Amino acid sequence: MKIIEKKCPNCHANLEFDVGEQNVKCPSCRRAFAIEYEKDFVDPEVQLKAKDIQLKMLDDITKARSFGKVFFVFVIAFAAIIIGLTVFLAINGYQDYKDTKDEIETSRQRALEEAEEFKERQKASEEEFESRRKASEEEFESRQKASEEKQKQMQEEAEKAIREQANK
Ligand SMILES: [Zn+2]
Repeated sequence: MKIIEKKCPNCHANLEFDVGEQNVKCPSCRRAFAIEYEKDFVDPEVQLKAKDIQLKMLDDITKARSFGKVFFVFVIAFAAIIIGLTVFLAINGYQDYKDTKDEIETSRQRALEEAEEFKERQKASEEEFESRRKASEEEFESRQKASEEKQKQMQEEAEKAIREQANK
């Protein structure tokens, strides 16, 4: 509130404010003047109310901002969870895919090894069969030869006996 010094329009003495009458009086000529409020004068009560409204608005803005912050944090946390979950599922899926692939590769390798083993066993059994066949063939031949020799010997002995009989 600005204070302006006023002088009496009648006697030019300095006017004084009368608190009881709520007006201005001239101490010299005793004339009283009513106080006319300026157009832009604002009642202190209204000012206080305006201040209250302003404070409430500020409070509302602060609350809105803090809600905004909380909401922002919530959105960020939610996004982080979604991203984390997606990454987790992707890694898990890839791991499963890898595991399955590894399993398939392992069983394929095992099947190949088994086939190889089977081939080796078959080859070994063929070789054994061949060696037995050869052995039995050789034995047969040697027996045949022995029997032929024995027959020849018996024949010679028989001829010798006949000759000895004839000489007697
Ligand atoms: Zn006066």
